[in-house]
Amino acid sequence: MLERHPERWHSVNRRIIRTAPVTPGAVPTAAVWTFRERIERAGEHRLWTGTADKGTTPVHYHDNIRYPARPLAWLLHHGTEPVGLVKAGCGVNLCVHGPHLTDDVTRQRERILYALLHGVTLAGPCTAGLHDLAEYGYVRPTGKTECRGCANARRNPTTHHEDQEGALAA
Ligand SMILES: [Zn+2]
Ligand SMILES: [Zn+2]
Repeated sequence: MLERHPERWHSVNRRIIRTAPVTPGAVPTAAVWTFRERIERAGEHRLWTGTADKGTTPVHYHDNIRYPARPLAWLLHHGTEPVGLVKAGCGVNLCVHGPHLTDDVTRQRERILYALLHGVTLAGPCTAGLHDLAEYGYVRPTGKTECRGCANARRNPTTHHEDQEGALAA
């Protein structure tokens, strides 16, 4: 006779971990200390030695609270919240060095500078007339102007693009 153990067994001993907001003033000093203890200097980089989602996205756990490590490093460096996803602009996945991190705003600023080198001023609506090129435009190495807003809509017509994940309502 098959004996079934219903779902109540699954909830036993499950550790509750919640993700905390990484905003100015919201991160306890003790969490910042343990965060800094998990950073190791490696040349010009500061490498995360704590846990990492999929081995590439640094995550800081303190008191069973989960802090995304790149946004936290950004906050500690700039004193402000990042806009959109924070990435390691230096290309080293586990680097959490403040000056090496990029967010939507700094990445777009770099795209605008890159476009200028190609003689293109990213401003005004995209060819579809739906997006501001100053915010969504970029220039390919070929010199062709493209719109990330339109590319996002093509990839993901019903929901917001993943770049919006973690974006701030402000
Ligand atoms: Zn780096
Ligand atoms: Zn567009």
